[in-house]
Amino acid sequence: MSTLTSIFNIETLQSILSIVFLSAIVLGFVELVIHYYYKKVRNKRERGMTVFSLFIAAVFVNLFGFVFVPLSIGFLAVNISPFALWELGGIGTVWGWTAGLVIYELSHWVVHMASHKVRLLWCMHAPHHAPEDMNIFVGHNLSVFEITYLPIFLGAVPALLGVDPIIIVAINVLDQIWNIVIHCSADMRFGFLRHFIITPNHHRVHHSKNLVYMDTNYTTLILLWDTILGTRVDIKEDEPPIYGITRDTNTGSYLNTHFGEFKELWKDLKTAPNIRAMMCYIFLPPGWSHDKSQMSTVKTQKIAAGLVKG
Ligand SMILES: [Zn+2]
Ligand SMILES: [Zn+2]
Repeated sequence: MSTLTSIFNIETLQSILSIVFLSAIVLGFVELVIHYYYKKVRNKRERGMTVFSLFIAAVFVNLFGFVFVPLSIGFLAVNISPFALWELGGIGTVWGWTAGLVIYELSHWVVHMASHKVRLLWCMHAPHHAPEDMNIFVGHNLSVFEITYLPIFLGAVPALLGVDPIIIVAINVLDQIWNIVIHCSADMRFGFLRHFIITPNHHRVHHSKNLVYMDTNYTTLILLWDTILGTRVDIKEDEPPIYGITRDTNTGSYLNTHFGEFKELWKDLKTAPNIRAMMCYIFLPPGWSHDKSQMSTVKTQKIAAGLVKG
């Protein structure tokens, strides 16, 4: 137990987390060099944008530490856990880790699904999906707005539901390590484990704008909740993923990639005939329009599958 507590304490885990972030940057550059060597860099400006985005996020987090530190997963988990609704097992129990992983992943599924289905949240999540290539830097191409609310679902919610804060941070460390793996362009299939864990292929499906792949595979560690909640889609041999979002995006531009969806939302809001339509534009899924001139992904998928008429 003493060995466990010496490894699994918040300070050690936070240090490991910093090492993981640094490793992601180093590995991202190693991958870039390999892609240059094999002439696989399809869009140099897009790569530049993802590196710039990483730089902006780092500057932002440092400048506004007074906002980001209290909103970090570790801080929220530790400070919310005294208000937990019930107590699950601690770090010395298998039950504590199992329940922790299941709850963390469910909360992740909920916030990630909402990020695709609520237009305002999609505006903040879309930058992660915009790149038309998959590589380690894409994994860290996150909106500065998104990193303010994600920790509420990954830190505060599991803590409120009784998960030990140390288990929450440890799972988050694993999640961050796995984030590097699932965005990496290398062909890693993980044998029979692909039936149980999220592999790079599952996450490539998630990043695709092919109609059959859109809005699927929301979790990042295990396949449990996507399977139960019907959002799991395995990669199909005859359907190669086409990465990116449906908006015509200039992925070489940081402003266009990170704020383009806000601009589109603003354009739609100006056409709204009343407050109700404005609220619908903000909170309903992307594609909703008051004059039915656009279509949500679900409706487009149903029409394509012949389930409803266009
Ligand atoms: Zn997503
Ligand atoms: Zn991703």
